[in-house]
Amino acid sequence: MMLIKKKCLFCENENVCNEAGNPEKLYSQNFKENDLNPDVFSARRSTDHFHYNMKHCRKTGLVFSSDVLPDPVLLDLYQNSRFSYQEFTGLLCQNYWNPIKTFNHFFTKENALEIGCGNGFFIEKLMGIGFKNVYGCEPCKQAIDIAKPEIKEKILCNFFKKGLFDKNYFDFICSFHTLDHVSDPSDFLNTCFEILKPKGFAYFITHNVNSIQAILLGEKSPIIDIEHIYLFNKQTLQMIGEKAGFRTFKNFNIRNSYPITYWLRMSPVPFKKIILKIASSLRLSNRIIAFKAGNIGILFQKL
Ligand SMILES: [Zn+2]
Repeated sequence: MMLIKKKCLFCENENVCNEAGNPEKLYSQNFKENDLNPDVFSARRSTDHFHYNMKHCRKTGLVFSSDVLPDPVLLDLYQNSRFSYQEFTGLLCQNYWNPIKTFNHFFTKENALEIGCGNGFFIEKLMGIGFKNVYGCEPCKQAIDIAKPEIKEKILCNFFKKGLFDKNYFDFICSFHTLDHVSDPSDFLNTCFEILKPKGFAYFITHNVNSIQAILLGEKSPIIDIEHIYLFNKQTLQMIGEKAGFRTFKNFNIRNSYPITYWLRMSPVPFKKIILKIASSLRLSNRIIAFKAGNIGILFQKL
């Protein structure tokens, strides 16, 4: 299995990450080549806790995987992965839109792009808000297959990269839980900056590697996962955007609403099946619970 070495996004010279030398090793790779299949790369599945060797930059707090699978192998795995969260897309729409809806009047409602759009549920939201031309980019074939016909034709089945869209074209770009999956977030954000019009906005949501849940759960946290190459905190998410030329307009913690069954599915609790049974017998399974579960959002502007 050929793997690619990854570096800290901020310390050009690796020795800067840690006074003692290289970035600190957090966890050791815990999967074998034949553990890997598209199922492991299906978003929001119950975690199997596979991860690469993971490192930590002491200077910035950035956490990253190294070495990782090459992009062509990752693209193949993501393209054949399952789309397994259709029932939650209504709640996700609220989780993503609510934090920025007070800035709605700042957005020019011409051209918008969502990167990692799944079946296009948020593209539909963007159209509903009034954006005239909306596009999506998504590697998972199954997600695109079940998109509504009028949405499907707006989605490109690929990883987001340079050359897919014209420069200075978009007024608004958004991407949720995707930046932590890409193998070169600097390049990703440089490309976003390039295709955005001056005064345009870019909105990202990622996991927060410094959240209390992530710290308490450590290696058992669902964010310590083979899908994640770079894991950010509030500061490093802001730094990586500003390095690409953006100005930070606003950053915030995201409040997530999900049914009890979803929280259980994503948590490393023991006796999960029994708890789910009890919840179901008490008719609690579909009860929606909201709390700040370690996601961060940031709204950048291109000035
Ligand atoms: Zn570093």
